[in-house]
Amino acid sequence: QVPLKPGRSLMDWIRLTKSGKDLTGLKGRLMEVTEDELAKHNKKEDCWICIRGFVYNVTPYMEYHPGGEDELMKAAGTDGTDLFDQVHRWVNYESMLKECLVGRMAVKPTAAPKGEDFKKEIISIISLSCFHITSFSKTGEGLQLFSSVISAQFFCQICLASVSYDWFQTDSLIVIVIYTKQKDMIAELVIVDCEDKRLRGEIIVGDHSYLIEVDLDHAVQEDLAVNVAEKVGKVEIILKKKDNIHWKMLGQPSERHNTFIKCTDRGLFYRKCKLVSKTEVTHDTKLFCLMLPKSTHLRIPTGQHVYLKQIIAGTEVVKPYTPVLPFLPLDFKEPSCSADGHIYLMIKIYSCGLFTEALDHLQIGDYIYVSNPEGNFKTSQVQTLEDLFLLAAGTGFTPMVKLLNSALSTVSHLRTVKLIFFNKTEDDILWRNQLEQLALKDERFEVQFILSQPTEDWVGKQGKISSSLLSEFVKRSRKDSNVLICICGPTPFTEQGVQYLKDLGYSQEEIHAFTA
Ligand code: FAD
Ligand code: NAD
Repeated sequence: QVPLKPGRSLMDWIRLTKSGKDLTGLKGRLMEVTEDELAKHNKKEDCWICIRGFVYNVTPYMEYHPGGEDELMKAAGTDGTDLFDQVHRWVNYESMLKECLVGRMAVKPTAAPKGEDFKKEIISIISLSCFHITSFSKTGEGLQLFSSVISAQFFCQICLASVSYDWFQTDSLIVIVIYTKQKDMIAELVIVDCEDKRLRGEIIVGDHSYLIEVDLDHAVQEDLAVNVAEKVGKVEIILKKKDNIHWKMLGQPSERHNTFIKCTDRGLFYRKCKLVSKTEVTHDTKLFCLMLPKSTHLRIPTGQHVYLKQIIAGTEVVKPYTPVLPFLPLDFKEPSCSADGHIYLMIKIYSCGLFTEALDHLQIGDYIYVSNPEGNFKTSQVQTLEDLFLLAAGTGFTPMVKLLNSALSTVSHLRTVKLIFFNKTEDDILWRNQLEQLALKDERFEVQFILSQPTEDWVGKQGKISSSLLSEFVKRSRKDSNVLICICGPTPFTEQGVQYLKDLGYSQEEIHAFTA
């Protein structure tokens, strides 16, 4: 993120897009854009970018881009889809840039694919379980390549793609059975939504996503159930028929139905959740409790975040937030159950914050859109740990909540969990009481508060993240102990922290930085 000039916030951008000004310079006309035409618009004062086949004139957006003009210019005059996906695929550019739409990319006539392109094509065909290979194998070279692709390194892709489903019915139930063949399948990897007869079931298998999406033949009741046979990787989605009639078919499949693709290629899915409570945590931070629809099965894995979506001044705005628990459990005899159909979010309300101010105005009973979870933290990173260090700044505390709980309740060899919590003032410390209680109750847990703007009467540590602070507080409990250091906060905090830790000799594998 770069500092934006006054008058260049997201709200200012939304206002400009609503002003009726011609932002494309085409007076509302849409055109078909060739690659040559796109390439001509590669300057700051005339910049077009293609995202997923649509071309936008982003020249007027330059000064409003939170990542800065230089970042945007990296894609000037080209297809910026990959770059966009790497940095913020969750940003709803269609809505944000709709007034900048120039048109679609012109479709290029396709030549028979060769060499590397051919390999890529085959892999995508395999991973989509579509075996229309013959149409691509007209050349001898193609056929030869195909057999080597199948036989060697891409065999695993075929195995993964062999996720399949079946369904059956009783008088009162519809049961959809998905065979993932994934041995460690768990309920967190299954996300099911059913609204207005449209059933959507997404199963995460490694870094791939398998999707069932059909418009059901008949109506079903609101509550659905999901069963997972963990050892064999079998998932059952159980729907209750509204009327006890015989179904001739499951329903009409959508074009995405029965596809198996990379998670990053699957668009984010949102469902509407009801705000059921809003409680103060500190002077500027609140705990929001959202209730999932009865017809949704969704559990957010430790270390992952969701996206909230609101329509602000007619534009869809999306921001990431990390679910927490309703409170810090103090007893770790058994893992606490967080699958009660509610999502808890600890959110700091910024004065003039576009999204958080709108969020703060939501009334109990209002609805907000919540996405499927995302994030690259792997719970397996924790299972064999002996020492866990959590470096959190401000609301960067949020991913630490579930992590702390999961480590203390499930990791058998865990010796120490140390939270080093950076805040501006004492009043900003989130859940201070609960953290101190936990430290008293569980001898494995220790918390250290460090303030950057303390009042005179603060007797604790002060300062910002530094090499000396980290060398004082981050120490293995024994030589060569298995350690993980997690870090989350404002971007400069996280970046500096990671660098200091590396300088102190911690390896890449021993550090996890939470980012978008
Ligand atoms: P904006 O309108 O974007 O900004 C208004 C002003 O607020 C800015 O000028 C600045 O002074 C201040 N501000 C805004 N954003 C930030 C920021 N990120 N850092 C420092 N100052 C800022 N926030 C939570 O409160 N709880 C969470 O659980 C949480 N989880 C997140 C998870 C991820 C993966 C990421 C990337 C961010 C998370 N955030 C979280 C931050 C959140 O996504 C928003 O950035 C934040 O709520 C501000 O949004 P806004 O639209 O209100 O502010
Ligand atoms: P804040 O402004 O209240 O600052 C808290 C502490 O962070 C400060 O006391 C200081 O010690 C440190 N800090 C702040 N700016 C710093 C800088 N430039 N260099 C070094 N240290 C600095 O924090 P906040 O308003 O609560 O912001 C929390 C941040 O955490 C936000 O940027 C948010 O986006 C981020 N966050 C990220 C995730 C994620 O998963 N990536 C999750 C939650 C929050």
